[in-house]
Amino acid sequence: MSVEGGCYCGAVRYKAEGDALFQGQCHCRECQYISGGAPNMVMGMPEGGFEYTKGSAKAFKRSDLDNPVTREFCAECGTHLVSRAPGLPLALLKVGTLDDPGDFKGPQMAIFTCDRQPFHQIPEGIPTFERGPS
Ligand SMILES: [Zn+2]
Ligand SMILES: [Zn+2]
Repeated sequence: MSVEGGCYCGAVRYKAEGDALFQGQCHCRECQYISGGAPNMVMGMPEGGFEYTKGSAKAFKRSDLDNPVTREFCAECGTHLVSRAPGLPLALLKVGTLDDPGDFKGPQMAIFTCDRQPFHQIPEGIPTFERGPS
């Protein structure tokens, strides 16, 4: 499968090819800043099949966390596009930036429920993890 997406203003565009190896929702406190407060919907595509096709994203990594993810966003409009976790060969796409968010077939797991807020919903029947699946 091949998916395309980009930021809110259109300055940064990307393409990702391959199978979606992870489709989930992340409840971590860090993601809440970016999602607006809800769990973050994330689709993990193979890193090798991911490329920016227009513009380039700015990357940010917190220095006060152990093993922080790198978050890539449009410096113009601030849209968060992709994150990359250390040791995980995936481009973790933010589902809202896909041209067709319907390419995401729904979360298959909920992760970092240790930071779940009382107003966060988890679909019935999906596995949940306090942190990441090991
Ligand atoms: Zn933008
Ligand atoms: Zn998260």
